[in-house]
Amino acid sequence: MKGIERAACRKVDSECFFPISYGAHIPEVIEAKKICGDCPILQACLAYALENGETEGIWGGLVPDERRAILLRQTTPSAAPKSDALELRQVLDGHRQRLDWTWHQVAQALDVSDAVLSKLSGGRRMHPDAMERAWAWAAEQDQTAGAPA
Ligand code: SF4
Repeated sequence: MKGIERAACRKVDSECFFPISYGAHIPEVIEAKKICGDCPILQACLAYALENGETEGIWGGLVPDERRAILLRQTTPSAAPKSDALELRQVLDGHRQRLDWTWHQVAQALDVSDAVLSKLSGGRRMHPDAMERAWAWAAEQDQTAGAPA
């Protein structure tokens, strides 16, 4: 972990970071959180623990349950901010309905497979080229839809 030599826990007895129980009132937990609160690499430490799936110990000032809650928020689509993939899907769906097209026809217009296009509904991005093509197609459709008859 970058900056580990500056970690506040290097200068103290590290036992409090691995208590038997992680309750908020457990003296070791309170002590460890206090030490983390003054640590200059708290954010890097927390990021490291989240990225590496550390399931035990207090890292970045958080106990395992608190870290699990962060990971859960990061992986729950409904809690995540709307991605550009979901936004693109919504825009495409608007044009699809206006044109009375199927998703297959939209995929053909964008020159991608149905499977690739369906990624958007899960909030996942397509290849950057396909994303760009899809936004361009949607922009063209906007103009067509807004053009006087
Ligand atoms: S945030 Fe806490 S556990 Fe992490 S390096 Fe700093 S003192 Fe140690």
